Amino acid sequence: MKLLEGKTVIITGASRGIGKGIAEVFANQGANIAFTYRSSDEKAKALEEELSANGCKAKGYKSDASDFDAAQKLATDVMEEFGSIDVLVNNAGITKDGLLMRMSEDDFDRVMDINMKSVFNMTKAVLRPMLKQRKGSIINMSSVVGVKGNAGQANYSASKAAINGFTKSTALELGSRNIRCNSIAPGFIETEMTEALGEDQIKEWRNTIPLKRGGSTEDIANATLFLASDMSAYVTGQVLHVCGGMLT
Ligand code: NAP
Repeated sequence: MKLLEGKTVIITGASRGIGKGIAEVFANQGANIAFTYRSSDEKAKALEEELSANGCKAKGYKSDASDFDAAQKLATDVMEEFGSIDVLVNNAGITKDGLLMRMSEDDFDRVMDINMKSVFNMTKAVLRPMLKQRKGSIINMSSVVGVKGNAGQANYSASKAAINGFTKSTALELGSRNIRCNSIAPGFIETEMTEALGEDQIKEWRNTIPLKRGGSTEDIANATLFLASDMSAYVTGQVLHVCGGMLT
C-alpha cells in the first residue's frame, strides 16, 4: 500500500525546486496532486504531464499565493475537480535579500506576503473541507533561518519565524478536529533559489554543514511525505529541521 494512496494534495509553488521534488515523491506514493505556480507556465505544463504519466491525477493552477481571494478560488476549484483536500503543503516562497540599511519597504512587504500571508490564505481556504472530513495534514515550509536568523535576510527570516508561530497556534486550534499542522525547516537545499548565491558561496555553505553537502529536493520531499502520511499520525505543532545538522 502506498503512503498517500487516494489522497488529494495541494502543493503551492511546485513548478520547480522543492515543491516539484515534493510533487514527484508524492506521486510515487499514489497521491493526486493539485499544484500552483506564479509564472512558469511551461514548467508547470511539463510537470503536469510528468505526474500524469506516472498514473496519478495532476493539475497545475496559476495562482498567486499572496492573494487571499485567489486562495479561496483555488480551494473551490480543487474540491470541484478532485472531490477532497487531504493534505496542504504551503511551499511557495521567495527571497529579496539585503542588509536592513538598504532593504526597501516593498522588499519587506513582498516577502511577508508571499512567504507568510500565503500560509494564512491557504490554511483558511482548506479549513472548511478539512473540518468536514475531520482529518487533514498541513505542512508549512519554513527555514532554519526562521529559528536562527541570518544577516541580510531580516525580511525572509521574519517570514519564516512567523510561519513557525502560525503553525504551532493552528496545531493547538485544530488538533481536536484531527487536523495536524507542522512546519519543516530546511537548511541549505540546492535549488534555483540558492543558485543565485554563486559557486564560491555555495562551496562555503557545503563546508559548514556537518553532513558536508547541500540538501536535495528529495531530502525535503521525504520529510514532507512523513508529515503528510499517517506515519506521523501523532505528530503536530512541530518544526522539523532538515538541514544536515547545520542547526545543532
Ligand atoms: P524556488 O526554486 O525559487 O521555487 C519557488 C517556487 O515558488 C516556484 O515554483 C515559484 O513559481 C513559486 N512561487 C513563487 N512565488 C509565488 C507566488 N506568489 N504564488 C505561487 N507560487 C509562487 O524555491 P525553493 O528553493 O524550491 O524553495 C521552496 C520553499 O522552501 C520556499 O518557501 C523557501 O523559502 C523554502 N526554503 C528553501 C531553502 C533552500 O535552500 N532552497 C531553504 C529553506 C527554505 P514560478 O516558477 O512560477 O515562479
